[in-house]
Amino acid sequence: MSVSENLDHIYADIKNAAEDAQRSESDVTLVAVSKKQPAERIDEALAAGHRVFGENRVQEAYEHWEARKKDNSDLVLHLIGPLQSNKAADAVALFDVIETIDREKIAKTVAKEMAKQGRDLPCFIQVNTGEEEQKSGVTPARLKEFYDYCYYECGLKIVGLMCIPPIDEPPALHFALLQKLAGQLDLEKLSMGMSADYEDAIKLGATHIRVGTGVFGERS
Ligand SMILES: *Cc1c(COP(=O)(O)O)cnc(C)c1O
Repeated sequence: MSVSENLDHIYADIKNAAEDAQRSESDVTLVAVSKKQPAERIDEALAAGHRVFGENRVQEAYEHWEARKKDNSDLVLHLIGPLQSNKAADAVALFDVIETIDREKIAKTVAKEMAKQGRDLPCFIQVNTGEEEQKSGVTPARLKEFYDYCYYECGLKIVGLMCIPPIDEPPALHFALLQKLAGQLDLEKLSMGMSADYEDAIKLGATHIRVGTGVFGERS
C-alpha cells in the first residue's frame, strides 16, 4: 500500500474509534513518525496533505525537515524522543511541540532556550507509566512535583502527558493510567498509541497518536 492509502486508512480508523468513544475525530491528531524513513515516503505524505510529523532524534529531524519546513510553513513537528541538553537549542529552533520533557535539567534548559529564541512551544511531560528502569520519563509518583517544577519554576507551557507502554504488557492499562494522571493535573492532551494500538488509545482519550510503520511501512 502507498503512504497516501495508509493515511486514508488511519484517518478512517480514527473516525471510527472516536465515534465509538463518543469523541470528535477532530480531537485526535495523527503524528506521522518519519524516523528512519526514506525521503520519497516523506514526500508522499506531504503530497497527500499530511502536515503533522514526529521524529525521535534531533539530528535526523534536521536532515528530514529543515528544508521541507521552509517549503511548507504549515508543518507541525513533534519531538518524541529523549532530548540531551546540548541539543536543546537545535530542538527548540526546529520543533513545534516537545513531547519528552522528562527531567529537571532538560525542563530548565528547554525553558531557557525558548526564552532566548522567543519560541513558546507547547510541551508534554513523558511519564514512565511502567516504571521501567531503561525508559525515560518521570514516574507517576513524582509527576505532580515535576509538573509543578516545569510550570512554576520554569514557566513551561505543559499541555499534556505522553507515554510509551512496556512492550510486554497490555497497553490499555497504561493508557488508562495516563488518562487518570492527566485528569488529576487538569491537562487536556494525551500522546499515546502507536501503529499496533492507536485505536485502544483513542478510546482511552488519546489526543495525539504517534504512528510510524502504519503510515510509512517498515523502517530501514
Ligand atoms: C518510533 C516511535 C513511534 C512509532 O512507532 P510505530 O510502531 O512505528 O508506529 C511512536 N512513538 C515513539 C516514541 C517512537 O519512538
